[in-house]
Amino acid sequence: MSNPLLAHTPLPAFDAIRPEHIEPAIRALLAQANEALATVTAPGFAADYTAVSAVLDCATERLGLAWGAVGHLKSVADNAALRQAYNALLPEVSAFFTELGSHPGLHATYRAMSPDAMTPQQRRAHALTMRDFRLGGAELAPALREPFAANQAQQAQLGQQFAERTLDATDGAHWDVRAEQMAGLPDDLRASSAALAQSAGVSGHRLTLHMPSYLPVMQFGQDRALRETMYRAYVTRASEWGDPALDNTETINNLLTLRHQEAQWLGFADYASLSLASKMADTPEQVEAFLLDLANRARPHAERDVADLRVHAAQACGLVQPQAWDWTFVGERLKETRYAFGEAEVKAYFPAPRVLQGLFDLVQRLYGLAIEPAQAPTWHPDVRFYEVRRQRSGHTLGHFYLDPSARQGKRGGAWMDSVRDRWLRPDHGEQQTPVAHMVCNFAASHNGQAPLLTHDDVVTLFHEFGHALHHLLTQVNERDIAGINGVEWDAVELPSQFMENFAWEWEVLQGLSAHVETGAPLPRDLFDRMLAARHFQSGLQTLRQVEYALTDMRLHRAAYRDQPPMQVLREVREQVAVLPSPEYARPLHTFGHIFAGGYAAGYYSYKWAEVLSADAYAAFEEAAHHAGSVIDAATGQRFEQEILAMGASRPAMQSFEAFRGRPPSIDALLRHQGMA
Ligand SMILES: [Zn+2]
Repeated sequence: MSNPLLAHTPLPAFDAIRPEHIEPAIRALLAQANEALATVTAPGFAADYTAVSAVLDCATERLGLAWGAVGHLKSVADNAALRQAYNALLPEVSAFFTELGSHPGLHATYRAMSPDAMTPQQRRAHALTMRDFRLGGAELAPALREPFAANQAQQAQLGQQFAERTLDATDGAHWDVRAEQMAGLPDDLRASSAALAQSAGVSGHRLTLHMPSYLPVMQFGQDRALRETMYRAYVTRASEWGDPALDNTETINNLLTLRHQEAQWLGFADYASLSLASKMADTPEQVEAFLLDLANRARPHAERDVADLRVHAAQACGLVQPQAWDWTFVGERLKETRYAFGEAEVKAYFPAPRVLQGLFDLVQRLYGLAIEPAQAPTWHPDVRFYEVRRQRSGHTLGHFYLDPSARQGKRGGAWMDSVRDRWLRPDHGEQQTPVAHMVCNFAASHNGQAPLLTHDDVVTLFHEFGHALHHLLTQVNERDIAGINGVEWDAVELPSQFMENFAWEWEVLQGLSAHVETGAPLPRDLFDRMLAARHFQSGLQTLRQVEYALTDMRLHRAAYRDQPPMQVLREVREQVAVLPSPEYARPLHTFGHIFAGGYAAGYYSYKWAEVLSADAYAAFEEAAHHAGSVIDAATGQRFEQEILAMGASRPAMQSFEAFRGRPPSIDALLRHQGMA
């Protein structure tokens, strides 16, 4: 019996892969990859970029393609046997790629390569590889290797512990309440909380700190005492105010100490500088200046937001002295008063096929792309496969799978992933074209009717398609810097957030909306209300993001090492915040992005990339002044050539400046969010 994961097919045989294929195939491909690693690091093997790539990269490519297919199936078509096979091999596959990233022999081979013998793209890919070797500890003195590895293992373990304690502290609290305490809460929460109470053998409703329960209470719950109780529990999770076994205080201190040690071993002043070594922003000072500038510009708007809230609290909610557990509630009331419209009203205008066609028409006009259905094996009958061609020449640029709907066994959320990358292959010299996964979780269709998308869904689809275009339109021939590969972390959301802007354009929405019953496009007055609600309280939201980002950056700077983390946060608040926080609140103790995710000294990236994407989009708004439309092909062509096509073949700042003719400015973001 042949194993589809070992077949030499250009695309994975998604319809034929079974759990029992996984172990033998991945073991065989791991063995081949290890053999390739041994070959290129053996004495006498030429220190030549193409020669190494032809052996090693081709072997890891095969492993990556097969393992990627297995991981994808685990995400979109999970079952017990598949999960077991995946989890059984995960440690071995991870260990192989970790070894690859710090292998002394491979590092020596790369170091011996002469840049003069490389193409410009190879030189860039080589430089990034050398940087990653350095950051991975490959250049450490032998005596430091073991302590460094121990440091990394401890960090991984503490990050895991931080996440588990957060989860346990969240799971550990519940409130059994009477029907009258549920006043104002939506029907779905009434039903789910009643079911939860019933399964626990108690009467009434059981509320928890999980988002689908906690958030509606803060937004809609009329019982103020209940809001206060749950708020206090929420903002003190995993802190010294609760179960000592779940207190993250020491975990935070230990993680910050380990990170500082790691940075110093690698030759950096602090972890903030280490984090920025692979990002678009240059120095911690630059990031802080950026965040403080943003805060200063947002402050007057945030103060007006708070003034509006105070007036509405007093006049409409009878709250003369609103507290921390009131702001979300008052905000929701104010939003309802100002922009009354419901999700269902908007949804009726966005049947999925119409939205997709509208999106394809948009990129046809912007970039001259033809997107047509194509054939490939898939994992579910709902999945579509498309070819992307240059309209004028008919030249094939790449392909993508689209898996649109939610279903059993499919992970939630939306994402873009690479199936394979563009690559001028070093083994047989052929051009490999890129292939992408587009995965969404739209509500499935009922009784044959087309699924209806919320406007949030439409924005999400545009976001992920922006990532896909970055992957598919690359013209870079070196795999490791093609598409999104190697792109700085704080710049990788530029193409995706950029695309979101089009989902807020009247002209674009006209082309992708059609009422499910009447076929009429989205009415102007509904659009205007959606637009007005889009940046409701953007001043306040901006300050909140800046507060988190600035705290994150300072916690990882040498200058703040001798201050307790809570003190760093308090000082940032004094400098930035306009709404007071209770003294007992401990938001750092559940700040998983920086203590259990990849965002340490990187939380600013959200705002940073928003500035880039808004400023890039402003070029289309400027073109509209004379061209009459933001869907401007000339600007689109320049955006494609200077940003999308370039991948990581040059620093993101250079690509941005080549497109815009100047460095990024925050003006467009402020204008888009009503803060100009
Ligand atoms: Zn994204």
